[in-house]
Amino acid sequence: MENLRNKNVLVVGLARTGLAVAEFLLDQGARVTITDHLPAEDLGSEADSALRLECSLALGGHPAELFTDADLIVVSPGVPLNLPQLQEARSKSVPIIGELELASRFLKLPIVAISGTNGKTTTTELVGDMINRSGQRVFVGGNIGNPLVNLLREKEDFEVAVVEVSSFQLDSMDTFHPQVAVLLNISEDHLDRYDSFSDYVESKCRLFSNQTADDIAVVPARDPLIGVRCTIRSRQLNFSLSKQSAHAYLESEQLVCRVMPGPVRRYDLRRWQLVGSHNQQNLMAAVLAATCMGAKPEAIQKTIDNFKPLPHRLELAHHWRGIRFYNDSKATNVDSVVRSLETFTAPIILLAGGRDKEGSYNPLTGLVRQRVKMLVLMGEARFRLAKTLGNLTCTVVVDDMEAAVPVALGAAAPGDVVLLSPACSSFDHYENYKARGDHFRSLVHKFTAMEVFDETPSCPWISAGRNKRKLNAHN
Ligand code: ADP
Repeated sequence: MENLRNKNVLVVGLARTGLAVAEFLLDQGARVTITDHLPAEDLGSEADSALRLECSLALGGHPAELFTDADLIVVSPGVPLNLPQLQEARSKSVPIIGELELASRFLKLPIVAISGTNGKTTTTELVGDMINRSGQRVFVGGNIGNPLVNLLREKEDFEVAVVEVSSFQLDSMDTFHPQVAVLLNISEDHLDRYDSFSDYVESKCRLFSNQTADDIAVVPARDPLIGVRCTIRSRQLNFSLSKQSAHAYLESEQLVCRVMPGPVRRYDLRRWQLVGSHNQQNLMAAVLAATCMGAKPEAIQKTIDNFKPLPHRLELAHHWRGIRFYNDSKATNVDSVVRSLETFTAPIILLAGGRDKEGSYNPLTGLVRQRVKMLVLMGEARFRLAKTLGNLTCTVVVDDMEAAVPVALGAAAPGDVVLLSPACSSFDHYENYKARGDHFRSLVHKFTAMEVFDETPSCPWISAGRNKRKLNAHN
């Protein structure tokens, strides 16, 4: 455990994580400065809370000398590690770590770490629930919105930590050592932040870098990327939808789990409520991880029977006149949209777009052609999306969600699925994916209640038109 007393520690980034880090460092007796490139008025409640702490603040910019004079720099997950001030500090050998690394240096309990391009939050919640129902005191946190340092400040005596870990957090770790490391999948994402896909893969593989033969890695069976690119020294447990040689697989509405030396367990999936084969994969990974941490089979079965879909992840937002509306606002990359489109056999009206992340939209072409009855594109990425997908199905380009929902309503027939699954981040129009999903949900309720919708365009049709009329008049 590190002694931080009287050390000059600079916290870079004042969001929820930065604030939690500063509070923890102050508890440790460090002299803390927080810096953020935004001024106080743009930072909201965190700036107000920071003002009440016994620390210095440098907001609205990053003074270089703070970085070079620090004994330690702790960066928040949103801060790019190639910031010139960080590079300068690095050249002067100032240690730079992230919150995850800081917290793990002080933690003594076993850690289950969950990473992957998609499915982290769902799987983290599943594992946490299984362990909790088994009667163990479990801290569930990390990238999920409850920084790991908070665990160190809690009075409760936790026995195990289940932590969602993003690639950005892995970039700023050094000694972080999970006893169970789950890597769900890797697909293209965050190319606006990484120089290449290869760098992103490398970052994800860091999850295993401090594991030893006594630890466990939970990974998909025969994954062409993870299997080849990640060096895994720990014992591997793999999951597969079909492969019966895997440690977890599916067989006629049952999940089969074989973790030696324990007996083979079969879990009944008839009450499992999450849609999509990707969620079955998340569940298999969760069962393996929870089993390794000693979760009881009855507790695991209870989680399977009672776990509710999380908001903004293929969440059924409304069911109206035989049309189902799904809010999948958290689908901020292409693979998550692929998995959502694969989930439905009904005709889909897909609402996509937002801030572009500079990856390729090509993996969507086959499914859009086969399953999407209408594509409604919006936000900053709408024209780039239209370039790849616009000639595959009836496509309407609009400015924003306010315009997109009535267009979708105008085209929807009983039996159809209206799906918000953006393949982009939300930051062009919203504070985050939650605000975007909430807006979609409220617009769907508003327009269906008012029975207002746009004239169905004759396709191919690309326009930003808004031709409303009453639904009754149309039927
Ligand atoms: P994360 O925390 O990694 O962003 P979430 O559980 O919040 O993952 O899900 C984010 C999005 O990814 C949702 O649209 C969800 O439907 C989709 N998703 C969930 N699990 C998977 C998976 N295993 N593979 C691909 N997409 C997934």
